[in-house]
Amino acid sequence: MWKKQLLFLCLAGLALWAAAGGEALPADAAAELPAEVKYIALTFDDGPRRDTTEKLLDGLRERGASATFFLVGEEIAGSEDLVERMAAEGHQVGNHTWSHVRLGGAVPETAAQEIRMTEEALEELLGEGEYWLRPPYGFIDADMEVGVPMVKWSVDPRDWESRDTAQVVQAVLRDAGPNAIILLHDIYPSSVEAALQIVDALEREGYWFVTVEELLRLNGVTPEPGVMYRSGRG
Ligand SMILES: [Zn+2]
Repeated sequence: MWKKQLLFLCLAGLALWAAAGGEALPADAAAELPAEVKYIALTFDDGPRRDTTEKLLDGLRERGASATFFLVGEEIAGSEDLVERMAAEGHQVGNHTWSHVRLGGAVPETAAQEIRMTEEALEELLGEGEYWLRPPYGFIDADMEVGVPMVKWSVDPRDWESRDTAQVVQAVLRDAGPNAIILLHDIYPSSVEAALQIVDALEREGYWFVTVEELLRLNGVTPEPGVMYRSGRG
C-alpha cells in the first residue's frame, strides 16, 4: 500500500501547489515529485467470480496496484465479501449491468432497469456512491440518459477470445502507454495470470496502476455523468 500512500501524498502536494497559485512552492519541493511518473489503469469486466477474482485481488495487493472492476449484478450473490474487499483495498467498483445485456438498441426501460438493479446491489453492499458504468460490448445509445460517468478502453487484448496468458500479455505490452485504459476479464484464470504479469512488467518500466477515476483526475479531467471516457486524457 505504500505506493498508494505516496500517490496521495503527491496529489496532496499538487493540490497545495494549485491552491497556492503554483508560485509559493519552494523550488526543491517540486523536485520531490517523482520524475516522469506514468499512470495506467487496468479494468476488469464480468466478475466477480470466486476463484479467479480472489486470486487477482491477492496479486494486486502484493504489488500495490489498484484497478477498476465493472461487475455483473447477478454474479454478486455469494461473492459479496470480494466486492467489499475491492472497495476496502482501494479499487474502484463499477456497474456492468445486471445480466450483461447489450444496451445499444435495448428497450430504454429494460436498459435503465439493468443499470439500476446493479446500482442498488452495490449501494446495499458498499453504501451510497457513484458507481460508474461500463456498457457491455462498449456501446450504449447516445440518447440514453445515464447519471454516472461511463468508461470504455484504449487497449483490448481480446483476452476472452484467446484465453492465452502469453498472448494477452504480449498484446497489452505492445499497445499500452501512459494513461491507457486496459480491458480484461477477471473470470478467466488466463487473464488473471496475464494481469499480474502485466503489472510486474509495467511497474518495472515505472508505471503506477491507478483506478480510472484516479487516472482522469491525475490528468486534470473532471468526470461528468453521461460522458464516455476511453483513456486518462478523456
Ligand atoms: Zn462484459
